[in-house]
Amino acid sequence: MQQCFVALGSNLGDPLVQVMKAVEALQHLPDTRLLALSSFYRSVAIGPGVQPDYINGVAELDTGLTPHQLLVQLQQIEQQHKRVRTERWGPRTLDLDILLFGDQLLDEADLTIPHPRMQERNFVLYPLLSLVSEWQFPDGRSLSDLIKKCSDEGLSLVDEYSSPTIFASKNKTSTVDADLNTTSGDAL
Ligand code: AMP
Repeated sequence: MQQCFVALGSNLGDPLVQVMKAVEALQHLPDTRLLALSSFYRSVAIGPGVQPDYINGVAELDTGLTPHQLLVQLQQIEQQHKRVRTERWGPRTLDLDILLFGDQLLDEADLTIPHPRMQERNFVLYPLLSLVSEWQFPDGRSLSDLIKKCSDEGLSLVDEYSSPTIFASKNKTSTVDADLNTTSGDAL
């Protein structure tokens, strides 16, 4: 089993509903346990034109899947959420990215781990920091160093998810049914 971190983002429909439905889907992935959810942030969109704010967070998983198997599963979840993607950096109903996968390094056409743009993105680093106080990246940089250089401008905590939610311990086999506080909506 490998500890891995998946970034969740949405800025279409009801973004908070989208990401929480994605969290439910993560809980049903084969050979995988959801260990924890980060604090969630609202972030001002970067990209073309005027876009709605994003909701961003990070899920910590324990998985027996390979990185590519996990990528396929995440892409299926994105499709189930009727992901709309018209242009790069454009608005999207749901974006799921593999940030870190154990201490693995991958640089392949369809999968790069650690995620190539995570180190400069405040909407990834701040949620990650709510789950792990420190992380050493393969290039020698540490999460605390990156955070020092990364402004939290444009980020605000989502009230209902301002603290991380722990679902299971890495060392235990059973999972805890934490209250997801999932809101119902018509965003799908
Ligand atoms: P995007 O949804 O715009 O973030 O990009 C999706 C594309 O990035 C897919 O075609 C993936 O194959 C590729 N990709 C490369 N590295 C990763 C990663 N670490 N996590 C998710 N997708 C990745």
